[in-house]
Amino acid sequence: MSEDFYDVLGVSRDADEDEIKDAYREKATEYHPDVSDDPNAEEKFKKVKKAKEVLTDDEKRQAYDQMGHDRFEQAEKRGGFDGGRGGGAGGMGGQGPFGGMGGQGGMGDIFEQFFGGGGRGRQSNRPQKGQDLRTRLTIDLEDAYEGVQKQVSVRRPERCDDCDGEGHPPGTDSHTCQECNGRGQVTQVQQTPLGRVQQTQTCRQCGGEGEIYAETCSTCGGDGTVRREATLSVEVPAGIQSGQSLQMEGEGAPGPNGGPNGDLLIEVEIEDHPDFERDGDDLRRQEPISFPQATFGDTVEIPTLDGTVEMDIPAGTQSGETFRLQGKGMPRLRRRGQGDLYVQVQVVTPSDLNDEQKEALEQFAEAGGEEISVEEGFFEKIKNSF
Ligand SMILES: [Zn+2]
Ligand SMILES: [Zn+2]
Repeated sequence: MSEDFYDVLGVSRDADEDEIKDAYREKATEYHPDVSDDPNAEEKFKKVKKAKEVLTDDEKRQAYDQMGHDRFEQAEKRGGFDGGRGGGAGGMGGQGPFGGMGGQGGMGDIFEQFFGGGGRGRQSNRPQKGQDLRTRLTIDLEDAYEGVQKQVSVRRPERCDDCDGEGHPPGTDSHTCQECNGRGQVTQVQQTPLGRVQQTQTCRQCGGEGEIYAETCSTCGGDGTVRREATLSVEVPAGIQSGQSLQMEGEGAPGPNGGPNGDLLIEVEIEDHPDFERDGDDLRRQEPISFPQATFGDTVEIPTLDGTVEMDIPAGTQSGETFRLQGKGMPRLRRRGQGDLYVQVQVVTPSDLNDEQKEALEQFAEAGGEEISVEEGFFEKIKNSF
């Protein structure tokens, strides 16, 4: 795979944002480490993700086009573009199979952390990544076995249509903020262990806009966002386990100042199954067999999550013995192959015998030299007393 971001996504140099996003979705699906068999899938997935990040960001894309791939990369390593974006955006999603990959930062970050300290206001006039949102999704074991497409509903902030995310109606009267004289920032000088440091903060009065508006948007109360119920379709990969999270990139809260959306993290929960117990990639089930089956051996049909299979029970099987059906367990997430199915047989003691069966069993006992004294009615009494 070529390094060039356009080549990575397989789009032309004049592709618009939609084309890029479509191409990204396609490639991301292809190389997703959870579904791809390609040994370099993760590496490729990262490249695709990186390419999309740069090419869907107007400023970065312009810089990329002007500088070319190598110079862009160098500049970025020096912290020229990503410096400080998002700040805390890393760290999320780490528990899931799709683990987050955000949060690389250059020296810019470190300096900001060191000297910043101005609270959340300090970055608020530049694009930031939106907040990640979390939700849960419950599926059944069959879905986890097959992999499934599911709808999730999430209430999330979205850009307010009435004010276009501005927080004030279009055309509202405004005047220049007097606190910052329209600059949107105020500068303070601070004494630090390394000497005097000039620190620039976002103006609290105008929130960095430099303008004070006469009216706020009544729909969103000036936030520029409204909470809406969104229904999204999510691809749950086969083999997923309870507690793992799926990351839907860009489906979180909108980023302040036109920044990229945060992500939506979907924690998957798998319902208990009446017949199968899951143990990692393995499954367990219990199977009743009759006394003659256990004694003489038999071939029985065992239900699995993928149809029934035949299992041989050897002669002389004891109740509680466990047999392994190789490869009949859960599919392995991110890998080929399946776990095993462990079948524990339970020999069922017959409780209602007809006369013929009774006689045969008595003969069986006699033949073995056993003496059994049956008191009719005795067991009835005990049963009824409970
Ligand atoms: Zn101001
Ligand atoms: Zn609004």
